[in-house]
Amino acid sequence: MDLLAFATSLITLGLIYGLLAVGLNVQFGFAGVLNFGYVAFFAVGAFTSALATLPPPGSPAYVEAGAQYALGLDLPWLAGFALAGLAGGLLALVIGLTSVRLRTHYLAVASFAMAEVVRYALSNETWLTRGEFGISGIPQPGHGTYVPTELYAYAYLVGCVAIVGGLVWAVRQASELPFGRLLRAIRDDELAARTLGKRTARTKLQALMIGGALGGLAGSLWTHSLGVVHVGQFVPIVTFQIWLAMLLGGTGNHLGVLIGAFLLIVIREGTRFLDAVPGLSAVAESNPSFVPSLRFVLIGLLLMVVVRFFPHGVRPDRPRTAPAFTGDLPAVAAAQAAQDAVEGPILSVRAVTKRFGGLAAVDGASLDVARGRITGLIGPNGAGKSTLLDLVSGVQRPDAGTVYLNRRPIAALPPEATAQAGLARTFQNPRLFGHLTVWENLMVAGADARSESLATTWLRVAGRRALEHEIAGRAEAVLAFLALSGLRDEPAAHLSGGQRKLLDLGRQMIRRPSLMLLDEPAAGVNRTLANRIFEHIGELNRQGTSFLIVEHEMDLVMRWCDRVIVMHQGGVLAQGTPAEVQRDPAVIEAYLGGGRAA
Ligand code: ADP
Ligand code: MG
Repeated sequence: MDLLAFATSLITLGLIYGLLAVGLNVQFGFAGVLNFGYVAFFAVGAFTSALATLPPPGSPAYVEAGAQYALGLDLPWLAGFALAGLAGGLLALVIGLTSVRLRTHYLAVASFAMAEVVRYALSNETWLTRGEFGISGIPQPGHGTYVPTELYAYAYLVGCVAIVGGLVWAVRQASELPFGRLLRAIRDDELAARTLGKRTARTKLQALMIGGALGGLAGSLWTHSLGVVHVGQFVPIVTFQIWLAMLLGGTGNHLGVLIGAFLLIVIREGTRFLDAVPGLSAVAESNPSFVPSLRFVLIGLLLMVVVRFFPHGVRPDRPRTAPAFTGDLPAVAAAQAAQDAVEGPILSVRAVTKRFGGLAAVDGASLDVARGRITGLIGPNGAGKSTLLDLVSGVQRPDAGTVYLNRRPIAALPPEATAQAGLARTFQNPRLFGHLTVWENLMVAGADARSESLATTWLRVAGRRALEHEIAGRAEAVLAFLALSGLRDEPAAHLSGGQRKLLDLGRQMIRRPSLMLLDEPAAGVNRTLANRIFEHIGELNRQGTSFLIVEHEMDLVMRWCDRVIVMHQGGVLAQGTPAEVQRDPAVIEAYLGGGRAA
């Protein structure tokens, strides 16, 4: 084989593996889905495209090809290509729907098993796939009609460059726009994303399907370049090669991953000729398994070198820099019109109970949170305060009792629904999106389902910019309000404890909720910052936001809270003004008997 032809086939293969690696990267690098069965999409796409484009059995072309198979739809290649993508996407949908409830490690096992099931099915359904024999004579688009045979490989390469380039561009769009930002946020902390009102299951499913479709499309490109397809091409090792390509390039970075695929292919195909190396050829002759083993050793060595010198790949994913914002800054907290339409307490908790085994963490607690006020929630450690916030925000479901937000029952709702109903909650330990910058954390929180939709991402270019600009304005206002502007491009994982608390608050603020539940917003931060946090809370409260705040420090509670509720052993022990509560003998008794004030 001459060098030019070899290089052409190498680059074509590199592009196809690049597409596979980008598809896996969408699933793992962006959505955090651990898929160890990725080869199944490749296989399903290859067979779908082959069967869609082959001539019907018995036709002259069929006889001429010397082929034997049961199905041939004789569709144009483009239809086969589209069907391959559809098949990959549908397989991903099936996997996603049957395994959304599985956690990461189980999903890894389940996806591996699924790929084996697909492979056995393709291998056993010989009437359709001819099993181990495979199908040959798969039409090559334009071969002999538009492009002469001697130029075909080059033309196919040009086609692959255009198609893979276009697809990777579209996927990159989705990855860098709000849809992809949300995916990366979900990968970092799915529960936190849900408490920001995100429908994470649906978004992950979409990413899984995009990744599956890309695998299917790659299968089509591959099978038509070879003209043959058989099940032996889709063994589990292929999945691991795609993983290797992704890791080599840089998980989370599509261009890096493309480079990784080329590296993999150059090593994998280049080492096929090891037996031609003088000195090795003699060994290869006496021991036929020598060269294949040596290839695996070389690929393994490559992986070790990369892990040692490029732990995040040759082109690692880097924190995104926020674009400069120009325009007027909006108010930080907009007055809540809906909130004024309803009278009475903004939140009512009625006889709510939550048991963990034999322990009732919350035990028949009832309380009201006044509209437009700051309510403090205090009580000794283990009194059930954090659990109560979980029950109100939908992070956990109560065993008994009801919760009303603006008179609407919300106790059965998941966290994304309570968030959409106007509730915000922070956690005792802030749950930030660690790999996202401060600015991105705010942008994810501020974006709504419309700007994160795939339709907006790919179709509504003008609308998309306007939406992003509106959210960026709010992010800018929050950054200025919390004096975090200097940290905008810092990954959240790098922040200090106090900065984390501020960002956590900011992330809920940008959503303009009507009620904020804060779990120890000033714990573990210095005095000055604690005061500043409460000044921010006071300012937001003046702008119309109601608060329920779990707080340790009695002097902060005394100064900032309009009312205080005291919990003890899962129940409400007392409530009233800060002064009344502080004088209450039962409260004093609970604190003295129950350890330090918490
Ligand atoms: P507080 O926030 O008032 O300190 P928590 O609500 O965190 O109290 O906890 C109340 C009680 O419930 C504690 O005894 C705690 O150990 C227990 N608890 C909280 N969450 C869980 C859980 N997921 N599983 C088992 N026990 C829990
Ligand atoms: Mg707590």
